[in-house]
Amino acid sequence: MSKIAIIGGGIIGVVTAYELAKLGEEVILFEKNYFGSGSTFRCATGIRAQFTDEANIRLMKHSVERWEKLEEELESDIVFRQTGYLFLAASEEEVEAFKANIKLQNKFGVPTRLIDMDEAKEIVPILNTEPFLAGAWNPKDGKANPFKTLFAYLFKAKELGVDAREHTEVIGFEREGDTITAVKFRNNGKVESVKVDAVLNAANAWAPLINEMAGLKWDLVPITAYKHQLVKTEPLEPGQAEPLVCPPSWNDAYIIQDGEDGGIICGAGIEHKAKSLDDYEPTYDFLRGVLDYAVRIAPPLRYAHVVRQWAGFYAKTPDSNPAIGRLLDNFYIAAGFSGHGFMMAPAVGEAMAELISKGRSKVPLDWEWYDPYRFERGELRTSAFQIG
Ligand code: FAD
Repeated sequence: MSKIAIIGGGIIGVVTAYELAKLGEEVILFEKNYFGSGSTFRCATGIRAQFTDEANIRLMKHSVERWEKLEEELESDIVFRQTGYLFLAASEEEVEAFKANIKLQNKFGVPTRLIDMDEAKEIVPILNTEPFLAGAWNPKDGKANPFKTLFAYLFKAKELGVDAREHTEVIGFEREGDTITAVKFRNNGKVESVKVDAVLNAANAWAPLINEMAGLKWDLVPITAYKHQLVKTEPLEPGQAEPLVCPPSWNDAYIIQDGEDGGIICGAGIEHKAKSLDDYEPTYDFLRGVLDYAVRIAPPLRYAHVVRQWAGFYAKTPDSNPAIGRLLDNFYIAAGFSGHGFMMAPAVGEAMAELISKGRSKVPLDWEWYDPYRFERGELRTSAFQIG
């Protein structure tokens, strides 16, 4: 049994802790604030395999298969619902691009198909069909409750013996050559250290700071925090906009109905570089911009009250693909999820745990694609298809 430290109590850190404990490893999980307080509890709930490159499609196909089994495995209702993702094409060129994406997704077993606007209207009764020519529809995509998902994993992780520490900030490492030998941390002003056999940096937007603590260049894995925001309306009757609905050419604007309370969550690619790593201030330009898109996608939303607006970070790499892999002998990273960390977590946590514990993984994760050293080599991947 090895002792493994995980830095970051967001969904990636918590899932990996659980998966490592399942493999019989001893895990100590550090979260400087409260669990989920980074990006995880601020996300839009979306889960999809509709990507536009092989690596992300294959990873997400596997992740959706994990999501399908989670409620049973974690013995908890995480409100996972396969209500689909519906992308809408507003031009002939976009229809052609959708067809090419669908072909690629189908090749790897993702059942997306092109649908006409009559069928789209049946799926989303409040949809404005007029501006659109066709939709890319995958009924197996879906959504889940980020709060319930994180706590379900955390509860099981603790049952399996994970030492999960909130309000405990990692502040440094002891390193011998390329090996991290100990983690230094602070809780309530008290500084302590613990000997470890391996370390995972799962600090997402904060990951460059952790890399620097490990003696690496802070921009070896260049991750920049962009402020992304959401608004939520008062509850509508269930069934109005259950899938995530998005015309990508409208600045990646989207709406998705909360699977429990029926409120409509509205997002868009109106982003701001975060001024600091605690810049969670919602902005008025986002509120105006996102609602303008939302009422054009679904005109009845004009009459719905907004009850909440909030902000969080997309921790973005230059190619919008995460950095997943080994940085030093026993120092690993899974960070820079660029807006996709919630949906990817079940697969990435499983793969990371297997890599750390066994040196290899059966998860179809293309390690080369996500190689954290690719930025240093100047080898960017094609940009991952963004939006929640
Ligand atoms: P985080 O949840 O950010 O966790 C990292 C943790 O590390 C933080 O809690 C932080 O406090 C902790 N930490 C940092 N430094 C230290 C330290 N020194 N010591 C101890 N702890 C430390 N993703 C999807 O898949 N689907 C969506 O629909 C979606 N929508 C989104 C909408 C919005 C508006 C936003 C902001 C994000 C969205 N995302 C979505 C992205 C998703 O939220 C993230 O990719 C995911 O939560 C990342 O999880 P994580 O565990 O890597 O990081």
